[in-house]
Amino acid sequence: MSLAHDDRHAGHEHGSELSEAQIRVRALETVLVDKGYVDPAALDLLIETYETRVGPHNGARVIAKAWTDPDYRRSLLRDGGAAVASLGYPGRQGENLVALENTPQVHNLVVCTLCSCYPWPVLGLPPVWYKSAAYRSRAVADPRGVLRDFGVELPREVQIRVWDSTAEVRYLVVPMRPAGSDDWSEEELAGLVTRDSMIGTGLPRRPQERAG
Ligand code: FE
Repeated sequence: MSLAHDDRHAGHEHGSELSEAQIRVRALETVLVDKGYVDPAALDLLIETYETRVGPHNGARVIAKAWTDPDYRRSLLRDGGAAVASLGYPGRQGENLVALENTPQVHNLVVCTLCSCYPWPVLGLPPVWYKSAAYRSRAVADPRGVLRDFGVELPREVQIRVWDSTAEVRYLVVPMRPAGSDDWSEEELAGLVTRDSMIGTGLPRRPQERAG
């Protein structure tokens, strides 16, 4: 209920005041609990699940496996939802998951221009900026400028492809494996995969960044 599309006012979350949406959610939650329609423990479990158990570390394991296992990479690119579920990350908002492969020629960037659609099973809940009007509009109008704001400067010859998520289709970017990570284990590689690199607003860490 309060998890996904509640929040058209997400940009106002900073600071101590509650946003309009947060106040609405709290009021609704109070009524539902008071009337006995909702068990507060169940709500807490749902929220705790998406705050701790489900998150970008899931996606990082998917990417690390795709970097080391060519068969898995092929299956991920063919049917993202099935490949992700096969690693133990099924679930809401991930059934129809499309994996997008970054190459030296093409960089993929994911947005939801309408609201905040996001691949929950692999990335958890979307960051506040993902839901902001500024990101949603600028990602389409000026993707290179958005990347620059995130500290990513791509060579001019690299094409940027922007993918607009919907209620039906969610996207996961498969970033390029960082140079110098050839002898890294799958688990070590997962430590290089950042959340933003799977949205397309960032790149994976380089091995030297991880070591430091
Ligand atoms: Fe959306």
